[in-house]
Amino acid sequence: MHCPVCSTEQVRKFSIVYEEGTSRGSSEGSSDHPRDKASYTAEHFSQTALAARCSPPHEPDVGFVLGSIGIVLSVCAGIQLGKATASLWWGMGCFFVVLWTLYLVWRLLLAKRAFARYEAAYWCWEQSWVCMSCGVSFKTRAPDNSSADARLS
Ligand SMILES: [Zn+2]
Repeated sequence: MHCPVCSTEQVRKFSIVYEEGTSRGSSEGSSDHPRDKASYTAEHFSQTALAARCSPPHEPDVGFVLGSIGIVLSVCAGIQLGKATASLWWGMGCFFVVLWTLYLVWRLLLAKRAFARYEAAYWCWEQSWVCMSCGVSFKTRAPDNSSADARLS
Protein backbone atom coordinates (compact mmCIF):
# COMPACT_ATOMS: atom_id res chain seq x y z
CA MET A 1 0.00 0.00 0.00
CA HIS A 2 1.42 3.35 -1.09
CA CYS A 3 0.28 6.92 -0.58
CA PRO A 4 -1.15 8.23 -3.88
CA VAL A 5 0.38 11.68 -3.23
CA CYS A 6 3.87 11.15 -1.81
CA SER A 7 4.14 7.35 -2.50
CA THR A 8 5.48 6.53 0.93
CA GLU A 9 4.57 3.20 2.51
CA GLN A 10 3.78 4.82 5.85
CA VAL A 11 0.01 4.54 5.46
CA ARG A 12 -2.45 3.21 8.00
CA LYS A 13 -6.06 2.17 7.98
CA PHE A 14 -8.64 4.56 9.49
CA SER A 15 -9.93 1.80 11.77
CA ILE A 16 -6.48 1.18 13.27
CA VAL A 17 -5.73 4.88 13.76
CA TYR A 18 -9.14 5.31 15.40
CA GLU A 19 -8.70 2.39 17.81
CA GLU A 20 -5.16 3.36 18.75
CA GLY A 21 -6.00 7.01 19.36
CA THR A 22 -9.22 6.45 21.29
CA SER A 23 -9.37 5.35 24.90
CA ARG A 24 -12.47 5.00 26.98
CA GLY A 25 -13.09 3.29 30.24
CA SER A 26 -14.41 3.71 33.72
CA SER A 27 -12.85 3.65 37.16
CA GLU A 28 -14.74 2.65 40.27
CA GLY A 29 -14.22 3.56 43.86
CA SER A 30 -16.03 3.55 47.16
CA SER A 31 -15.74 5.14 50.54
CA ASP A 32 -16.00 2.89 53.59
CA HIS A 33 -16.89 5.55 56.09
CA PRO A 34 -19.37 3.85 58.50
CA ARG A 35 -21.95 6.64 58.24
CA ASP A 36 -21.42 7.58 54.65
CA LYS A 37 -20.98 4.55 52.45
CA ALA A 38 -20.81 5.63 48.88
CA SER A 39 -19.54 4.28 45.61
CA TYR A 40 -18.81 6.16 42.47
CA THR A 41 -17.82 5.47 38.91
CA ALA A 42 -15.93 7.87 36.73
CA GLU A 43 -16.07 7.59 32.96
CA HIS A 44 -13.16 8.82 30.96
CA PHE A 45 -12.79 9.28 27.23
CA SER A 46 -9.83 10.63 25.35
CA GLN A 47 -9.08 10.84 21.68
CA THR A 48 -6.32 12.26 19.55
CA ALA A 49 -7.12 14.73 16.78
CA LEU A 50 -6.09 12.19 14.16
CA ALA A 51 -8.32 9.51 15.68
CA ALA A 52 -11.23 11.98 15.65
CA ARG A 53 -10.62 12.58 11.95
CA CYS A 54 -10.60 8.81 11.36
CA SER A 55 -13.79 8.14 13.35
CA PRO A 56 -16.36 5.76 11.88
CA PRO A 57 -19.73 7.18 10.75
CA HIS A 58 -22.41 7.61 13.40
CA GLU A 59 -25.30 5.20 13.48
CA PRO A 60 -28.57 6.71 12.22
CA ASP A 61 -30.55 8.38 14.95
CA VAL A 62 -33.75 9.48 13.24
CA GLY A 63 -35.99 7.33 15.43
CA PHE A 64 -36.18 9.66 18.39
CA VAL A 65 -37.51 12.73 16.56
CA LEU A 66 -39.96 10.75 14.45
CA GLY A 67 -41.05 8.74 17.45
CA SER A 68 -41.81 11.91 19.39
CA ILE A 69 -43.84 13.37 16.51
CA GLY A 70 -45.65 10.04 16.19
CA ILE A 71 -46.64 9.98 19.85
CA VAL A 72 -47.97 13.58 19.70
CA LEU A 73 -50.01 12.77 16.56
CA SER A 74 -51.33 9.59 18.13
CA VAL A 75 -52.41 11.37 21.30
CA CYS A 76 -54.23 14.03 19.24
CA ALA A 77 -55.97 11.40 17.12
CA GLY A 78 -56.89 9.44 20.23
CA ILE A 79 -58.37 12.50 21.95
CA GLN A 80 -60.36 13.50 18.86
CA LEU A 81 -61.86 10.06 18.39
CA GLY A 82 -62.42 9.71 22.13
CA LYS A 83 -64.43 12.97 22.05
CA ALA A 84 -66.38 11.98 18.94
CA THR A 85 -67.43 8.60 20.31
CA ALA A 86 -67.45 9.69 23.97
CA SER A 87 -65.49 6.57 24.79
CA LEU A 88 -62.07 6.49 26.37
CA TRP A 89 -61.41 2.97 25.05
CA TRP A 90 -61.98 3.99 21.44
CA GLY A 91 -59.57 6.85 21.93
CA MET A 92 -56.93 4.62 23.44
CA GLY A 93 -57.39 2.00 20.73
CA CYS A 94 -56.97 4.65 18.06
CA PHE A 95 -53.90 5.93 19.83
CA PHE A 96 -52.17 2.56 19.54
CA VAL A 97 -53.31 1.96 15.95
CA VAL A 98 -51.93 5.33 14.81
CA LEU A 99 -48.71 4.81 16.77
CA TRP A 100 -48.19 1.34 15.30
CA THR A 101 -48.90 2.54 11.75
CA LEU A 102 -46.42 5.40 12.05
CA TYR A 103 -43.85 3.04 13.50
CA LEU A 104 -44.21 0.62 10.60
CA VAL A 105 -44.01 3.44 8.04
CA TRP A 106 -40.88 4.70 9.71
CA ARG A 107 -39.29 1.25 9.82
CA LEU A 108 -40.11 0.46 6.21
CA LEU A 109 -39.17 3.75 4.57
CA LEU A 110 -36.97 6.04 6.56
CA ALA A 111 -34.97 3.69 8.73
CA LYS A 112 -34.18 1.46 5.78
CA ARG A 113 -32.71 4.36 3.86
CA ALA A 114 -30.86 5.76 6.83
CA PHE A 115 -29.33 2.40 7.64
CA ALA A 116 -28.41 1.76 4.02
CA ARG A 117 -26.64 5.12 3.91
CA TYR A 118 -24.92 4.27 7.17
CA GLU A 119 -23.80 0.90 5.81
CA ALA A 120 -22.40 2.56 2.69
CA ALA A 121 -20.59 5.17 4.78
CA TYR A 122 -19.25 2.48 7.08
CA TRP A 123 -18.04 0.47 4.11
CA CYS A 124 -16.20 3.56 2.81
CA TRP A 125 -14.66 4.09 6.24
CA GLU A 126 -13.37 0.52 6.28
CA GLN A 127 -11.63 1.17 2.95
CA SER A 128 -10.09 4.46 4.08
CA TRP A 129 -6.41 4.98 4.75
CA VAL A 130 -4.39 7.92 5.99
CA CYS A 131 -0.79 8.74 5.05
CA MET A 132 1.36 9.23 8.14
CA SER A 133 3.85 11.23 6.10
CA CYS A 134 1.84 13.87 4.21
CA GLY A 135 -1.51 13.43 5.99
CA VAL A 136 -3.67 12.83 2.95
CA SER A 137 -6.54 10.36 3.33
CA PHE A 138 -7.56 8.06 0.51
CA LYS A 139 -9.56 4.93 -0.23
CA THR A 140 -8.33 1.57 -1.45
CA ARG A 141 -11.27 1.30 -3.80
CA ALA A 142 -13.66 3.92 -5.13
CA PRO A 143 -17.05 3.56 -3.43
CA ASP A 144 -19.29 1.27 -5.44
CA ASN A 145 -22.36 3.46 -5.95
CA SER A 146 -24.33 0.80 -7.81
CA SER A 147 -24.27 -1.60 -4.86
CA ALA A 148 -25.12 1.21 -2.45
CA ASP A 149 -28.12 2.14 -4.62
CA ALA A 150 -29.18 -1.49 -4.81
CA ARG A 151 -29.27 -1.65 -1.02
CA LEU A 152 -31.34 1.54 -0.91
CA SER A 153 -34.14 0.16 -3.06
ZN1 LIG B 1 1.54 10.78 1.62
